[in-house]
Amino acid sequence: MTDPALPPADDPVAIAAALVRCESVTPAEGGALALLEPLLAGAGFACTRVDRGGVANLFARFGPKGHPRSFGFNGHTDVVPPGDAAAWRAPPFAGLLADGRLWGRGAADMKSGVAAFVAAAIARVRAAPPAGAILIALTGDEEGRAEDGTRALLDWMAETGERMTVCLVGEPTCPERLGDTIKIGRRGAMTVHVTATGRQGHAAYPERARNPVAALARLVARLDALALDSGSAHFGPSTLAATGFDTANPAANVIPRTCRAMVNIRFSDLQTPAGIVARLEAEAAAVTAATGVAFDFAAEVSGRAFLTPPGPFVDLVAGAVRAETGIAPVLSTSGGTSDARFLAGHCPVLEFGLVGATMHQTDESVAVDDIRGLARVYRRILDDFFAGWKPGAGGRGSGPDPRISGAGRSGPPDQGLVVSARRHPPSGPHP
Ligand SMILES: [Zn+2]
Repeated sequence: MTDPALPPADDPVAIAAALVRCESVTPAEGGALALLEPLLAGAGFACTRVDRGGVANLFARFGPKGHPRSFGFNGHTDVVPPGDAAAWRAPPFAGLLADGRLWGRGAADMKSGVAAFVAAAIARVRAAPPAGAILIALTGDEEGRAEDGTRALLDWMAETGERMTVCLVGEPTCPERLGDTIKIGRRGAMTVHVTATGRQGHAAYPERARNPVAALARLVARLDALALDSGSAHFGPSTLAATGFDTANPAANVIPRTCRAMVNIRFSDLQTPAGIVARLEAEAAAVTAATGVAFDFAAEVSGRAFLTPPGPFVDLVAGAVRAETGIAPVLSTSGGTSDARFLAGHCPVLEFGLVGATMHQTDESVAVDDIRGLARVYRRILDDFFAGWKPGAGGRGSGPDPRISGAGRSGPPDQGLVVSARRHPPSGPHP
């Protein structure tokens, strides 16, 4: 039954190293899901490939479909390109184990996280089949457009009646030490393309033209000074950054008719995309009144802000982190976007994983001890979940569960937890 070419199913380090050896740069599958599928199937997981649009995805379930106690893990096996491979200390897809670390593209983001939860889930079902189900949703399209990855898995789950009670994403969340940070939400992200339209004219006769370049510069300066909000209980202030300004005009003596700018906005749970666009339009109206230049806005929303507020699910994960690492994790909403934004529409979602300091860098690496430590955290989360955790009202801020906060813990579950989006520099895995 055991394929000698496969890593041992209960060894997260061996699985992680084998995954790093798969050249799965988005959207290439690279053999990564093909490696995991027989490991999971061999442990009794029902596996289904949910490929869409040229992207490989894998769904695995141990236990009955639709069980009200279904723990979900989500992760991705695709990686960003290695860049200049010659600049690495070892080839980026060699999966080198040296100096107590696993080296290679994807070691941190996030093949070791995937390996840790796969190994933990397999070890759990072998030790004691859970009274419920363990679901594992793996995608090969997180670093790319993310259209046919976790979204495809969620679409397929909705069609076939698969359901997670809660979901833990294994992205690297810790800035410095394993255990220091759990992500309980993420800011929303959107890009707004602004087009200024004036009247073309000769640069020697500016009074006969309406200059969109100067007007757009005024607008961008106003937007740059705009305070959208000052943050909320779990989020830092929303931010706006001008990221592009372009006339595409090669003629120095022509005032062009149009000019374009781009602003990228990361927003708290106090904002909606429509509300933000309305704010930008109000600023634009003031500039139009002064200049006669018109502005159009086109918004691209990458994700809305979401939050799984402190409550039973946060207590479950934070308790396991503290028990295994001795660290009281910060509850953070910092960083960029992740696939958690899609999962948040399905069930309460949290993110916890390795130290992400080297992700997307040359010589990406993680400590081998951390991979094993993370697998122990995941195993404890599963054990506690099936031992007595109650989802309650979906786990969304329904208050501490007495069965979680009770015996066997060193203190009340909220002790030592710091809720902050402001104290930490952005540390999320993705821009
Ligand atoms: Zn990632």
